[in-house]
Amino acid sequence: MQVTLLPVLSDNYIFLLTDLSQKIAAVVDPALAEPVLRKLQEMGASLVTIFNTHHHSDHVGGNEELIKHFPNVRVYGGAEDKGRIPGQQVFLEEGELVEFAGRVGEVFFVPGHTRAHIAYYFSPTTPGETGDLFCGDTLFAGGCGRLFEGTPAQMLNSLSKLRALPDNTRVWCAHEYTLGNLQFALTIDGNNPDLQARFADVKAVRSRSEVTIPSLLGVEKRTNPFLRWEQPALQSAANSQESVQTFARIRAMKDRF
Ligand code: ZN
Ligand code: FE
Repeated sequence: MQVTLLPVLSDNYIFLLTDLSQKIAAVVDPALAEPVLRKLQEMGASLVTIFNTHHHSDHVGGNEELIKHFPNVRVYGGAEDKGRIPGQQVFLEEGELVEFAGRVGEVFFVPGHTRAHIAYYFSPTTPGETGDLFCGDTLFAGGCGRLFEGTPAQMLNSLSKLRALPDNTRVWCAHEYTLGNLQFALTIDGNNPDLQARFADVKAVRSRSEVTIPSLLGVEKRTNPFLRWEQPALQSAANSQESVQTFARIRAMKDRF
């Protein structure tokens, strides 16, 4: 399985998963159809699956047009998103397994950004290979999604599940927010040398207009404030020793940043 990243809209990424030996593809969160169709044509592949993480239009906007071109495509989304994802046929719950080109993906129910949000984790098939996490707007590189339909406690629980995955997991998040996220992170965790180094690195990458995705989960654990609610620096920034309160206060500060 190969992952191709398609930048669309102002800062969204669509992920195209392909198996060119079988000429098949799956797409994660097609905000738009046209760039996906163009890439599929270029690769000579046909679309077999749409994996949606949540119902927002910048993640499902291309569904209907893609279904028109590929009437047999299977459309996956979270069970709780029933009625909100165009063309949805499969209603996934926590722990269910999906498959693409011999890779097995586990479904995580990760409410917080929306009440129905799910993430897909494709575990490595051979030792030495890395896992791939498609987490939509739940975990971002250096940040996390806004809480539109969920509580801080729900989001903390959702991020705890993702944080438990192996450090070498590639994190394919749906927006290029990394630089701004790290700018915020520095305001509350500025003495963290891993964060300082990552910021310098990402700044250089963005100044060349290159993408910062995927990131690695191990890097997120060391530098992303929204995975670090137990760390003394963040507890003191939030003026709380309690995890949910620390998380909630950091999220609120980010909303105002
Ligand atoms: Zn969203
Ligand atoms: Fe989004």
